[in-house]
Amino acid sequence: MSDCLFCKIIAGEIPSSKVYEDEKCLAFYDIDPQAPTHFLVIPKTHIGSVAEVNEDNAAIVAHIFTVIAQQAKKLGLDSYRVVSNIGDQAGQTVPHLHFHVLSGRDMTWPPG
Ligand code: AMP
Ligand code: ZN
Repeated sequence: MSDCLFCKIIAGEIPSSKVYEDEKCLAFYDIDPQAPTHFLVIPKTHIGSVAEVNEDNAAIVAHIFTVIAQQAKKLGLDSYRVVSNIGDQAGQTVPHLHFHVLSGRDMTWPPG
């Protein structure tokens, strides 16, 4: 999607600090980290949010979770949180599916 910020990052039109990349997904550090370690994992195909996941595109979500597990292990994270915001009220600001991976500080439950 040409006017999507994360599609532009995937295309290399906007720089990012890469954690991991393969043919299906990209992981990069959040520009405004909310924890000592905070990176995002996104599919390379444009999906608006979890609300647009269906039987036809769900395989990328499973793949992203394997990447999250692998990269968290590689970074030595033994406790972390995975978050995906859907819609305005939940705090979604970029309409391209992404999973936040946050680690390195105490976290509250329920989330704010
Ligand atoms: P959300 O608010 O859940 O949609 O998450 C979007 C995230 O993207 C926020 O945590 C932003 O800090 C992050 N973000 C926005 N622009 C960039 C960028 N150019 N590089 C890395 N992260 C970004
Ligand atoms: Zn996009």
